[in-house]
Amino acid sequence: MDLDWNKLFIGDLDFSFALEIIIRTLMMFSMVLLILRLSGKKGVRQLSLFEVAIIIALGSAAGDPMFSKDAAIVPSIIVFGSIILLYRAITYFAMKSEKFENIIEGEPIYVIEDGKFVLGVHKDHTFAKDEFFSEMRQESIEHLGQVKTAILETTGNISFYYYQDDEVNFGLPILPKPYKKKLYQLTEENIYACTYCGNTEKLQAGYHSCSRCDQKEWVIAINNVRLT
Ligand SMILES: [Zn+2]
Repeated sequence: MDLDWNKLFIGDLDFSFALEIIIRTLMMFSMVLLILRLSGKKGVRQLSLFEVAIIIALGSAAGDPMFSKDAAIVPSIIVFGSIILLYRAITYFAMKSEKFENIIEGEPIYVIEDGKFVLGVHKDHTFAKDEFFSEMRQESIEHLGQVKTAILETTGNISFYYYQDDEVNFGLPILPKPYKKKLYQLTEENIYACTYCGNTEKLQAGYHSCSRCDQKEWVIAINNVRLT
């Protein structure tokens, strides 16, 4: 293959254009900062999908004029202005109408209720169990029986509401080691948790289907209180 290395790396770059790129970048970067300040957002820890879309749109409008000779600055500024107007308008209508807000931002989803997974939550493709377990571990949760309610927020964050220590039930362990000890054939009487829905049952030795979701995979349930 005959590859033109000079064209690949340098193109029609010369010293004066290199200087121009630096100036263009400084200007566009300041513009982006200014626009983000005007948007009223305080930080980016919790971005909804709508806000991510805004950031992507800003980024692509800002990127081209940084290094492209043909792209002037002013059209980009017009794009910025339009984006910020759109952002303001959409947030305004989202504030006015809950229905509109749900369409734009999505809705919070109940993931855990009364120490068990809400049935059907696994079918939602936005719900990844591994990720969810990892989030729970970061909150020092050891098993589902410690959690009264968990809600997946539209920002992707999860809000947890716990049982009091004396209300903690038996639940599905979520630490990797006990969770991996999955059983189909139970060898002794014990309290077991369904790995699929978190339902707990006192079961004899043998094969059993979960009375709640009909799956057949169990782990030994635990009922430790949550230490914080
Ligand atoms: Zn189940």
